Amino acid sequence: MSDPFVCARCAAKGPTCCELTPGAEEVCFPVSEYERERIIECVPDSGGFALQVNTPIFIENLFRLFPGQRKKVKELFPPGGMHYRLEVDSNGKCLFLGSEGCIIPKEVRPLYCRLFPFWTDENGRITLLEVEKCLAQHENKTPGRLFKALGLTQAEVRELHSRLRIAWGFAPHADD
Ligand code: SF4
Ligand code: SF4
Repeated sequence: MSDPFVCARCAAKGPTCCELTPGAEEVCFPVSEYERERIIECVPDSGGFALQVNTPIFIENLFRLFPGQRKKVKELFPPGGMHYRLEVDSNGKCLFLGSEGCIIPKEVRPLYCRLFPFWTDENGRITLLEVEKCLAQHENKTPGRLFKALGLTQAEVRELHSRLRIAWGFAPHADD
């Protein structure tokens, strides 16, 4: 069954996917211009973005997310170049995180946020990004239960991943 409160319970318990370890900002996922413009239209005074250098750790992280696409990653995010990421406060909390969760309407949130904790590998298989701090994953050990708890279907995850790939400059599917 869908569990609309799992993320709220996760937030009450401790750090969530909306928080980074302070000092680890450079590994935050990139926000494309397309995503950023849509968010600014909806939340005009947020100021919730930061320009970030494409550091070696950031690029290494993208290599892990897009294995086999090192050349494309370097072309889209050249070493020393810049990209936008979400801005965080001194505790590592995303500036869009309000007292009742994300203040950005769901359909406009960064695609990475909408997908989390799901990802899709180069063979089109749905995978999980991070286990440690995700209460939904702790409470739902099978993929079927996790999809239901987070209110997503496999088709929606694939569609969101494909949209993210396009927004970030990749081909819609790994084998395209
Ligand atoms: S944009 Fe919203 S969902 Fe994404 S990290 Fe920030 S608060 Fe969380
Ligand atoms: S997706 Fe996972 S880590 Fe993020 S708020 Fe929900 S339960 Fe927590």
